[in-house]
Amino acid sequence: MPEASTPAKRVPMRGAYLRLAPGEEPSLAGSRCPSCQQTFYPPRHICLNCYHEGLEGVALSKRGKLWTFTIARMSLPGSLMTAPYVIAQVELPEGVIIATVLTDIDPEATRIGMPLELVVEKASVNAEGAEVMTFKFRPAKD
Ligand SMILES: [Zn+2]
Repeated sequence: MPEASTPAKRVPMRGAYLRLAPGEEPSLAGSRCPSCQQTFYPPRHICLNCYHEGLEGVALSKRGKLWTFTIARMSLPGSLMTAPYVIAQVELPEGVIIATVLTDIDPEATRIGMPLELVVEKASVNAEGAEVMTFKFRPAKD
């Protein structure tokens, strides 16, 4: 058993590429091509733009804007989301489009172009006792 003072180990949920280093703000894990600077999410090994091999892992911007969205009016069986909720694609300053869901928002008030920020949160605890982390976006607070 871990000691009470030991922070729980955190692992990304399947399909979520997160940087979860202790003592570091969680962020999305992307990759950047050192040859042409194109950035990708999910991270890749080979650049789709120039075919350079060996991309560098980078922490992506935590803020972006809403590129497009749809409103889900029914929850899928077993889903952690309660309808209605917003399924979104968020554009980051690196030019990457992130498929995600929005939180802390009235679906009817959702607008393309609105500023959004990353939220990393615990979805569950796995059999090893590690916190399984996922991410969403919410309206950016200034
Ligand atoms: Zn490239």
